Order: sequence, then structure tokens, then C-alpha cells
Amino acid sequence: MKLKKSNFIAKLFRKRKLKLAPKIYSATSLHLHPDQFSSAVLTVVSTLQQKGYQAYIVGGGVRDQLLGLTAKDFDVATDAHPEQVKRCFQRCLIIGKRFRLAHVYINRRDYIEVATFRAGHEQAKHKDDAHVKHEGIISRDNVYGTIEEDALRRDFSVNALYYDPIKEVILDFNSGLEDLQNKTLRLLGKPDQRLQEDPVRILRGIRISCKLNFTMDTPLLEAIPKHLPLLSKISGGRLFDEYTKLFLHGKGLSNFHCLRKYNAFAYLFPETEIAFKEEWFKAMVEHALDNTDLRIHSGKTIHPAFLIAVFLYAPLKQRNLELQSTMSKKQALITAVEEVLKQQAKTTSMPNYFGQMVRDIWFLQRALELKRKTKVLEVLANPRFRAAYDFALLRASVSELSPRITEFWTEAQSLDERKLLAKITTTKKSALTSS
Ligand code: ATP
Ligand code: MG
Repeated sequence: MKLKKSNFIAKLFRKRKLKLAPKIYSATSLHLHPDQFSSAVLTVVSTLQQKGYQAYIVGGGVRDQLLGLTAKDFDVATDAHPEQVKRCFQRCLIIGKRFRLAHVYINRRDYIEVATFRAGHEQAKHKDDAHVKHEGIISRDNVYGTIEEDALRRDFSVNALYYDPIKEVILDFNSGLEDLQNKTLRLLGKPDQRLQEDPVRILRGIRISCKLNFTMDTPLLEAIPKHLPLLSKISGGRLFDEYTKLFLHGKGLSNFHCLRKYNAFAYLFPETEIAFKEEWFKAMVEHALDNTDLRIHSGKTIHPAFLIAVFLYAPLKQRNLELQSTMSKKQALITAVEEVLKQQAKTTSMPNYFGQMVRDIWFLQRALELKRKTKVLEVLANPRFRAAYDFALLRASVSELSPRITEFWTEAQSLDERKLLAKITTTKKSALTSS
């Protein structure tokens, strides 16, 4: 009978799991202490444990703290299902379709991501919980399981270390600590299969090895080029998430070089990659990434759309020029902007709000270049002026815009309204508009 057979397989699997006993390390002997973690993540773990669930800190948080780095965020893994997690906390949202997760809010903006232990798809009880597209890409990954099964479903061995901050132990099912010490990034399971079921792991591998200065092991390195084209099957929204992780956390420039080394950047921004044949543009992108990293390291704010405006600037310029032969300059710009954004949305798409920011930065370039007397005050008062001005500085830094234009706007910002009006009225029209 079918049921008996699956029980038999489940039993076999359970037996097999017994062999998957973790190595258990004392966390203090590895210089890991609860006070290295946020009170929020500690509260989430202890609340879940008090309610009778298993709960661990896992992923980049544990990995980075063990390496003496500051972790970007802390993730929690538990045997509680998302609905059960939700019942344990006052403010908790269940998100995701492909991979259901609970976000436990600690304040209005910040949350801890709580994932339920995952199992292999052969354990699925409902067909809706597991789905694989014909290319072999997993499009639904909601089969829950045990910690042993979860440890095999994670991407890299160094990301599969489970830290219990209450018992102060680390559970290692996959020799992750050894890899951590040897600075090796090793994909769990068979690389071909794991990259095929989720090609985003290629981007994660490149980003994590670049960030930690780890070497990807040979099987992973060999598998990457084979599966790169599958990145074109990943949704624009998911690639946008990866874009933010790659470029908006202070390591943008080195991630950019690593992505290009493995020919992966073209899968995020294809038109940008093509436009790199123009030296000035590559220099402009590198300059922008460097500035963004510096801003992040000095605690300044950055807007996620600014870099996209930079990445797509040469494709925009090129299309704008082509269109000018058949329409007015103004119309050509409007059409080129929409065409370039539409083309980009086929790969790494971005939320509408960011698209609007990109449009504003680009349209304001024209206003900055024209320096129309009647518009100067209006341009200065535009909420996007600062971003557009920074963009103009970037252009000037690669000689794509006359420094006289940026000098004008630099001075304009330092003058009060009366002096500015006086400057505009006394400056000859030709001096104001020439560049
Ligand atoms: P960081 O937060 O520094 O970017 P991270 O490794 O914590 O790195 P997250 O995206 O926060 O990355 O994911 C948390 C953990 O979830 C990972 O460490 C890994 O164990 C697991 N994980 C995330 N994405 C995948 C994936 N695509 N396939 C398998 N496991 C994954
Ligand atoms: Mg993380």
C-alpha cells in the first residue's frame, strides 16, 4: 500500500537521520557570547524556547560573529510553524510564498526573521508546499522538518551553524566550523543540484566569499559557470533583494568586481554590462560604488535607487541619442527613460517608488544643464535636488559634464535667496547657460 511504503521510507529516513548527529561545541570556547547578539534576537529565541519550541540563531549572524565581524542581521531557526511563531509574539507578520517566514517586529521598522526548519521535498504532505519548475528551480519551498533536515537544506556549511544562546552551545551538522577555520565556502550537497534548484545561491556564494575573503571550493567553482544562465529565470523582485544585499551594505565595489569576475553581473544589469565598453561609464559606476560604500561606512544615508540611476545611465544616454534623430530632445528623453526602465524590469526589477526616483534624477540632469534663470530656485527646492546634484558631480568626475555646471550649483546652494537672485540677474544669459 502507498501509505505503508511512505511510512517505511519515513522510518528509513529517521534511521538515517540518527547518523546525522551534530558536533556540539561549547560556544564560550569559541569566544562566542550572548552579549555579542542583539537583545531582540535573544528575546525571540528565549520566548520560543519558553513556549516549548526549539530555537537557534543561525546563518550569517553566527558565521560573522565567529569570525569577529559585525553581523548584518540575526536570523532565527525554529521547529515552530509560522502560525505558531505568530501566536508567540504581539507583532509578527507571516511573509513569502516561495519560502514562508515569520517577521517578528521589535519596533516599527526592525524585525527578526524566523524561519521554520525545512525538509526535503520528498517529505511534502501537501502538493502546494513543494513545487519545482521544469528547469529544476524550486518555486515553493515550504516543507517543514527537523533541525537535522534543515541543516542539509541550507546553502553553505558555514551558514548552517546553529547557536543556542541559552545553553551556549553551537550545533554543527556539516563540518561548518572546519570550513570556517579554513576560510572555505562549501555548498552543501551536490553543487549541480543545489545551484539548479536555486541559482540565487550563485550570487550568494560570490557575495559571501567576497565579503569574508573565503575561497569557494572547487566543486562550487566548477558548477557556477554551468548554471549561471538559470539566473535569467529568477523573478525580478528576488534579484532586487540580492541587489540590495550586494550593493547597499558597504561592500558594493568589491562585490561588483567579484560579480564581473564570474560573469554574473550581466544577469542583474545586462544593458549596463554591454555599456562597459565605454571606459568613462565603467569609471563612473566604480566611482559611484566607492562613494556609496564610503557613505555607508560613515553612517550617512543612501537611496537604493541612486545606484540604479547610475547603472542605467549609459544605456539611457545611448537610447536618448538614437531617438533624437526622430523626435524632439524632450520627447526623446521621456521615451528613452521609459524604454530603459522597461527593459531593466525584465531582470532586476525595482519597486515603483524607486523607479520614480530614478526618473527624477535623470530628468533633473537636464534642468541642471540648462540652468534656466526662471527655474533655478525651483530646481533647488526640488526634494530630489540633492540626489540629482550628486549624480551631476559623478558625471563631472568622469568628464561627462562640464565642471562649470556643477560649480554653478555648488555655489547656488551656498547663497541665500537674495544673493542667489542677484547672481542670476547680473549673470549674462550666455554665461549662465553655456557649459
Ligand atoms: P547576510 O545576512 O550577511 O547577508 P546570511 O547568510 O545571514 O548573510 P540571509 O539571507 O540572512 O543570509 O539568510 C540566512 C540564512 O538562511 C543563510 O545563512 C542560510 O543558512 C539560509 N539561506 C538563505 N538563502 C538561502 C538559499 N537560497 N538556499 C539555502 N539556504 C539559504
Ligand atoms: Mg542574515
